[in-house]
Amino acid sequence: MSVSPLIIAIDGPAASGKSTVAKRVAAALGIVFVNSGAMYRAFTWWVLQNGIDPHDLPAVLELLARTEFRCGEEDGVGTIAVGGVPMTRDELASTAVNAAVSPIAAIPEVRERLVAEQRCYGSARGVAMEGRDIGSVVFPETPYKFYIDASPEVREARRRAEGIDDSIAKRDRIDSSRKVSPLVVSGDALVVDSSHLTAEEVVAAVLAAIRERMGE
Ligand code: C5P
Repeated sequence: MSVSPLIIAIDGPAASGKSTVAKRVAAALGIVFVNSGAMYRAFTWWVLQNGIDPHDLPAVLELLARTEFRCGEEDGVGTIAVGGVPMTRDELASTAVNAAVSPIAAIPEVRERLVAEQRCYGSARGVAMEGRDIGSVVFPETPYKFYIDASPEVREARRRAEGIDDSIAKRDRIDSSRKVSPLVVSGDALVVDSSHLTAEEVVAAVLAAIRERMGE
């Protein structure tokens, strides 16, 4: 008898705390943590590295067609290499990438390639994946869907505290209004507002809901 892998979808706007939550939920359940935003960031970095204007659609598509993505796992965390270059946090969180990632992520062909990579994680030993469209598009069948929210003020303050220059309001606007796979709250997702909760409290709420949905 085959047992299907546990798939946890965690969506939400920028700096809502979903990454911390997904990482801790994955560790608690012994499954892989994947930050799907890192994949969009990785390709954005590659576009800039190749001297391409992120708004030059033909050039971005031409680069996409000749770019190889390699997604893997190291110590329970998803990894990505683009064009043979393994990505590190510093490259992915740069100001230039922050500014260009949402327009790049709005390109349907880019999403098609990366969603295919993301789905590969669903066939392994289970995954907690965070992003914008994980519950709505990448893994719509999973019963374990969460939407982690926080007020715009709290989210801006979190980024400032990290010392990161990030135009999150602008990214949210583009991510929520794009034609393909916009950021939405799936009807069957549990919404958790993390504005006034600690990470531990959010993780506890998510784990309790997973256990309840498992029928434990
Ligand atoms: O999660 P993070 O803020 O690092 O994501 C960076 C950007 O990648 C988002 O602003 C969005 O444009 C894009 N993204 C997406 N779909 C996902 C994850 C991220 O469009 N599933």
